[in-house]
Amino acid sequence: MKKMYRIGSGLLCAGLLCYSLIPSEGLKYLWKRRSRRKSKTYGTEKRLYLTFDDGPSREYTGQLLNLLKQYQIKASFFVVAEFARENEELIKKMREEGHLIGIHSIRHENALLRGRKFVRRDMKEAVLTMEKMGCKIHYYRPPWGHLNLWTLYYLRRMNLKLTFWDVMAHDWSAKETEATIERKLLKRVFPGAVICLHDGRGEAGAPMRTIEALKRALPILIKQGYSFERMDVYEG
Ligand SMILES: [Zn+2]
Repeated sequence: MKKMYRIGSGLLCAGLLCYSLIPSEGLKYLWKRRSRRKSKTYGTEKRLYLTFDDGPSREYTGQLLNLLKQYQIKASFFVVAEFARENEELIKKMREEGHLIGIHSIRHENALLRGRKFVRRDMKEAVLTMEKMGCKIHYYRPPWGHLNLWTLYYLRRMNLKLTFWDVMAHDWSAKETEATIERKLLKRVFPGAVICLHDGRGEAGAPMRTIEALKRALPILIKQGYSFERMDVYEG
């Protein structure tokens, strides 16, 4: 009986590895490797791709958009469809100001252990929600970077591009300060890097620290010769 139980749990672990953990971590690894390889071909060109997840939020996204406007920076927003529905005016502002909008699920649920029905609904409904607001969606970033084999299937069927990141500053964490986020950003960027930050959710008002960190880091990066582009430029 004990042996059967051990075999059963072994098979379950192997199944989980093949179904979601290996695709999630493997694709993230390949993404980072591709960016590093691409960066070597850029020469003097120094581009960065700012991406923001987990918004829009009533408290923070407007302030972030104003900051980006000040530096004439175009970014990419991976929005949670439910938050977008509650803040349609912010989606309108994003579009008017030339930012790219991608999806980040309906309500930020983890797909790691979920099946076909969940994945299909999560992606389709998020796209439809945004289409009703006039956004044509081509990019998808999975919450926590977790996906499974069904996610890959529906990405293909729906013609969506999977988008990971190269630089993360853990800006959602209450442990980070404006200064540590700024330091991580300045230390970790490289030509062609996709930066993942957050304009919603997070711990203890996290997006405000992200905005303050960007206020300090953006002029420094611009002085270093970096420019900022949307994810459609990254994909070429
Ligand atoms: Zn997220």
